[in-house]
Amino acid sequence: MTVPRAARPHPPSVERVLAVARSRAGGRDPEAVAAVARTVVDSERERLITGGTPRDIETLGALVVTALEAFDGPGVRGREAPALPAGLTQVINATGVVVHTNLGRAAWPVAAIEAARLAAGGATLLELDRGTGRRGARFRVAQEHLTALTGAEDALIVTNNAAAITLAVGLAGRGGGVAVSRGELLEIGGGVRIPEILRRAGVRLVEVGTTNRTRVADFEATLADPKARIRAILRVHPSNFVQTGFVEAPDPAGLAALAHHHGAIVIDDLGSGALLPTERVGLAHEPMPRERLDAGADLVTFSGDKLVGGPQAGLIVGRGDLVARLRRDPLARAMRPDKTILAAVAATLALYRAGRALTAIPVWRMMATPLPDLRRRAEALVAALPAGSAEVTELDATVGGGSAPGQSLASIGLALTPPGGGSSASLVAALRSGEPCVVGRIERDRVVLDLRTVAPEDDAALAGAVTRAIAR
Ligand SMILES: *Cc1c(COP(=O)(O)O)cnc(C)c1O
Repeated sequence: MTVPRAARPHPPSVERVLAVARSRAGGRDPEAVAAVARTVVDSERERLITGGTPRDIETLGALVVTALEAFDGPGVRGREAPALPAGLTQVINATGVVVHTNLGRAAWPVAAIEAARLAAGGATLLELDRGTGRRGARFRVAQEHLTALTGAEDALIVTNNAAAITLAVGLAGRGGGVAVSRGELLEIGGGVRIPEILRRAGVRLVEVGTTNRTRVADFEATLADPKARIRAILRVHPSNFVQTGFVEAPDPAGLAALAHHHGAIVIDDLGSGALLPTERVGLAHEPMPRERLDAGADLVTFSGDKLVGGPQAGLIVGRGDLVARLRRDPLARAMRPDKTILAAVAATLALYRAGRALTAIPVWRMMATPLPDLRRRAEALVAALPAGSAEVTELDATVGGGSAPGQSLASIGLALTPPGGGSSASLVAALRSGEPCVVGRIERDRVVLDLRTVAPEDDAALAGAVTRAIAR
């Protein structure tokens, strides 16, 4: 319903609302208070247009203060700080998807969070060589870890792996040919496709082979063709799908030898880039950066926040001369991670060198947790929940985030019974809208919460959230 203009009451002026709000919004920038007051008056006007009853000036002033306080983060002087700033909610990932793209991919190791916190809160030796007092290399610590962990001559870190690919294929030069197998022209997710990345990088995609079978010999014909002007071969790891049946992909070493014979380079995009053998957690082998470099790849790119388990970043390792060229590229500046990310990448990589990755990096810890541990936690949770509302159940977890497609990790969790004959859909929605927000899934008409992706320290919070959702 719309109230005719003549019959409609007017909202109070911004000045009058401000006069009420200012007295209670102490210590804030008056401009910011005025901006929020304007939005409150605007929404009051909208209400009146649709026939809402006018609210008094005190109520509107209080709304301004509430809105301002919702923006206060932790550590704001003079008031009890909430745990999280406005718009952020604590989430418990009970989906059983270890690297969940919609839930922010990898949870960082504590060491990475601490490193980022220190870097964020003060000065760091980001680009200062403390020996000489002069400008030093920005990426030194993280790079040193990367070269040590992969055997590469040099390394570079950019904002994400899509940026790393864009930068690396640029080595082919404007209009230079980049050969890619038709079996690897994939969509990464969110509509991002390899052919589009190449186009935006200003290089020319030359498709080789067929969807299901591509051999080294297919590349040979393309590389030998002078008109194709191939400067690079891009390999893209099929990280979010599997091909089975009548399939064939070129052997990495054979492909590298061929590329080098024709003066081209091999760029190998691994997507996840496992720095530990995935067999250690019962998965099939995922290619490791060191293996691809040993097989002759000139550059290998991978994400910082998939199987590496740290912050989002694009990690590039490989030949010293090529990495040096990438570092000089103006695009590299546009893809440069900030000090907190660099500190967190370095701290995450350090855990691999310390031999603690399996226990201290959440992604690996989740994958490596033994079933009896999950069962014990599930039993304790069932005991803590209202009688008859939950039972222990066996589940299949997945790695997710474009890693180890088609494979699962045996897991254990809870199967919940919706109260009073309610639906699973409404229970899963109630869990999602609670505090903390619990994201589970529906399996065979039951709500299941997979404990493989829940940190043990969140079990008590999970029990509370489930109890409240069931009571609703
Ligand atoms: C995930 C993925 C990317 C993109 O990595 P981001 O870090 O998300 O930019 C690129 N290639 C492959 C094969 C991937 O799996």
